[in-house]
Amino acid sequence: MSSSPPRAKGTSGATVGYNALRQATVEGAKENLVGFSISGLATYVQIPELDLCLDMGECPLSALPLDHVFLSHAHGDHSRCLMRHYSLRRMTGIERPAAYYLEADLVERARDLVRAEARFEGTPLAKLAMPDFVGLEVGAEPVPLAWRKDLRIGAFRVHHSIPAIGCTVYDHKRKLKEEFAGLPGPKLAELRLEQGVEITREILEPRVSFCGDTTIKGLAANPQIWKSRIVVVESTFLEPGEEAMARHKRHTHVTELVALLKELGPELKSETVVLSHFSMKHTPAQILALVAQAVPEELRERVRVLI
Ligand SMILES: [Zn+2]
Ligand SMILES: [Zn+2]
Repeated sequence: MSSSPPRAKGTSGATVGYNALRQATVEGAKENLVGFSISGLATYVQIPELDLCLDMGECPLSALPLDHVFLSHAHGDHSRCLMRHYSLRRMTGIERPAAYYLEADLVERARDLVRAEARFEGTPLAKLAMPDFVGLEVGAEPVPLAWRKDLRIGAFRVHHSIPAIGCTVYDHKRKLKEEFAGLPGPKLAELRLEQGVEITREILEPRVSFCGDTTIKGLAANPQIWKSRIVVVESTFLEPGEEAMARHKRHTHVTELVALLKELGPELKSETVVLSHFSMKHTPAQILALVAQAVPEELRERVRVLI
């Protein structure tokens, strides 16, 4: 007989009436982050400056102009509005095809989902238009975003109940190679134009990391994410005593996250760490109070909540 999982003890005793279409802005973040994230209901984080939406558990109209969508894993609360995004863009006359980034192993299954939905609706498969899925390989070189060549996206493995990945979005820049530093402009131009010398090198500056659903193990295995200016992490469990349940359900508890951030010390370069994916049993006021209780003074400047 398998042992039964520990049961959640609700603070409010009932689920709270959340509306996933009603988006919140992350206060105090240097980037404009707008979205919604409640465990089991929906997660999506829109970053208009990057023309990007992280996960698509719901698709408010404000997501339609965004040309790039990243999916962390196949759970419905993170992925179920992928086709809604695709279809509504077409319906509202947005001609530019959006690009959907997901783990390479999921691409064929995503196509199966599109075909199944077409069959359900009675659309002949011959008339079916397929979204542009871009498979990301874990640990591979970051790839350019389809419509933003100044940005790159790369994937890393996290640890959840099904295969799941996080992503880092980088600013892609070119910098003068050290050996040419100090040379006058005309000389550099001559080297570059007349002699065909490559005088710059590529640099990638990590801007945003998004971790989807993961245990603390998945975060600890990816110390590079804390170099990003902004990191969005899940913090599903908040109440003292729920640590074992967090591990059992393959999610993160806020005290584990705080311990990890403290352990990082000066390695924590991120200006903003956004907590998300809270349990729907808490009201927003309870979430804010539980986070405030768990986050020590020295981290308060950086830690924000998506609620
Ligand atoms: Zn989730
Ligand atoms: Zn999940």
